[in-house]
Amino acid sequence: MDSFNELFSVSEWFTDITHDFLIIGGPCSAESESQMIKTARALKSSGKVHLFRAGIWKPRTRPGTFEGIGEKGLEWLKQVKEEVGLRTAVEVANPAHVEKAMQYEVDLFWVGARTVSNPFSVQELAESLKGVDIPVLVKNPVNPDIAMWIGALERFYNSGIRKLGAVHRGFYPFEATKLRNIPKWEIPIELKTRFNNLPIFCDPSHISGVRQYIQEISQKAIDLNMNGLMIESHIKPEEALSDVAQQLSPFEFSGLLDNLVFREIESNDKKLSGILETLREQIDSIDKQIIELLAQRMSAVEKIGAFKSKNKVTIFQLRRWEKIISSRVEQGAKLGLSKYFIKELLQLVHKESIQKQADVMNKQSYNKNENTDE
Ligand code: PEP
Ligand code: MN
Repeated sequence: MDSFNELFSVSEWFTDITHDFLIIGGPCSAESESQMIKTARALKSSGKVHLFRAGIWKPRTRPGTFEGIGEKGLEWLKQVKEEVGLRTAVEVANPAHVEKAMQYEVDLFWVGARTVSNPFSVQELAESLKGVDIPVLVKNPVNPDIAMWIGALERFYNSGIRKLGAVHRGFYPFEATKLRNIPKWEIPIELKTRFNNLPIFCDPSHISGVRQYIQEISQKAIDLNMNGLMIESHIKPEEALSDVAQQLSPFEFSGLLDNLVFREIESNDKKLSGILETLREQIDSIDKQIIELLAQRMSAVEKIGAFKSKNKVTIFQLRRWEKIISSRVEQGAKLGLSKYFIKELLQLVHKESIQKQADVMNKQSYNKNENTDE
């Protein structure tokens, strides 16, 4: 069971779509008939989009923002399917959504990050999908909890879903970053490594949060051998009622797809270097986070420096330093890191921290002197 070994590959999901790389495009939310039909027509004419997505029920972080158009949107999706000729995809969050969406012959369901964060909702959804042959995509939960993501996938698998995929949409960042959601590429890589035949898609729109990084993130997903992309596109992006900064016009979307570089079919040698590259990507992503965390540590250190200076406390305090060393060495030992390594590392970090604090103190006393002179 835990290898998901009965799963279909993406090219087996729809008999007439032969690609092993699926492109899903469409607005964050269904807003009006004309927005839906115009967006769908433009995406269809690019010839590169396999499924048309639109959120009908929107799980919003805050109440009072646009919460989705509801059932009307399903009628428009049906029109897209019949009049434009694109398959349709919608987010479902409870069994009633599944029932409604099936009435309107939606071709693919996805489960959103907020829903995946709640195993009760996932279980209810999975049960309502028993015996249903529609592909289900499971987005990663909001927090970087791979076990919760796998658990949700297992619930659908246990319900008999064999056209099952995961969607990487990034994780909630606790500190401000340039991206809306921090990718933590090592997590989808880990998922792929553990479950070889589980299709994984990337949603660069929700990782990015703004248009400018979508191209780069899409390319990264391809370089990591992901199985498809879900990208938000709106006929008039600047007028979108939700996720306004991250939606692309169908024209921009098509340009983005043209600029993606797909690797050739892998020979054995290439396969090996692909594995190596995947592992390197994992390390690159982790190093990036280490550096970001170090920068955050240094800014906390600067704040302490200012506080100490104001309250005339010395920079170096032996008791605190001893506690830092012993607690970190202990934590490291539990995780298989040697005492020597942790001590060396901390000493280096500590040296820089002391320097930062000294800089802050000098600056403050310099300013004070300047003031006294005045
Ligand atoms: C969406 O796809 O519009 C959406 C709400 O995404 P997520 O669940 O990833 O936030
Ligand atoms: Mn959205």
